[in-house]
Parts: sequence; C-alpha cells; structure tokens
Amino acid sequence: MSAANQLYQEVILDHNRKPRNWGKLDDASRHAEGLNPLCGDHIWVYLKLNDKRIEGISFEGQSCAICKASASMMTHAVKGKSIDEALTLGQEFRDMSTGKLDPQSGDHHLGRLTVFAGVRDLPTRVKCAILPWHTLHSAIHSIEQVSTEGEADPVPGAGLERTDHA
Ligand code: ZN
Repeated sequence: MSAANQLYQEVILDHNRKPRNWGKLDDASRHAEGLNPLCGDHIWVYLKLNDKRIEGISFEGQSCAICKASASMMTHAVKGKSIDEALTLGQEFRDMSTGKLDPQSGDHHLGRLTVFAGVRDLPTRVKCAILPWHTLHSAIHSIEQVSTEGEADPVPGAGLERTDHA
C-alpha cells in the first residue's frame, strides 16, 4: 500500500469513528439535503451564518465511509471561513476530485483535503466525496436567495445556476 493510500485509509477510518461537527445544529439559519442515489448517501448540512461568515456548521445522515469522512473534513475546513472562501474551497475540491486540479501544484487552499485526491481514479466514489460540498453549496445558495431581501449587497459569486444558455 502506498503512503498516500495508507493516509487516505487512516483519515477515512478516523473520521468515521469520530465524525467532526456531527448532528443537527440547533440554531442553524439554513440547511440543505444532499442525495447520491448512485451509492445511497443521504445527508443534511446545517449552517449558521453571521455577517457572511460560517459561524457554525454540522451534518448528519446516512452515507458510506467516504461521504461521511468527506463531510466531516468539510465542516472542519470551512468553519469560521467566509462564504466566498468556502465556495472557493468547494470548487477546488470538485476540480481535484475530477482531475482538473493537481493537488501537488500548491495553487489551492485544500490542505488536508488533498487526502481525497485519489478518488479521481474511482469514478463511482467521486460523487460520494463531492456530495457534502454540493450540499453545502445548496445551503449557501438558499442563503443568498433570502439575503437579497434583507441586504443591499447579495453574496457575490455564490454560483447561482444560470438558466439562460444563450
Ligand atoms: Zn457513497
């Protein structure tokens, strides 16, 4: 087993034994549900935002080990970060998982999350690893929609889906 593989196995095991930020966040201002029918992963991500910063985050649900470990590490990574930073991290994670970003390049903010780089060679597990980030994106997305009612400056670059393909 390679060193990278061994680290990967250890991280997955550790986060499954002791998932960080597990459970429902009582004072969450937003939440989103994530589903990966391919594997059966079904999770919820809870967010508490304060001044466009992720003050609190948690997750729960039923999922495979990769999804659970990814969600656990995600909550740890984005807690305390701004929404923009969290979205950038999510984009980098997706790019790494799909092989578009080279974790060795150093041109990213992934840190320990690079342990998941190996999933790019496992097409069926990519969705498991990415699901938590998709779910976080959804939760933030719904924040953005409500924030336009109360704030003059909606969150920029939160990745609103474009419906016009013109
Ligand atoms: Zn899975």
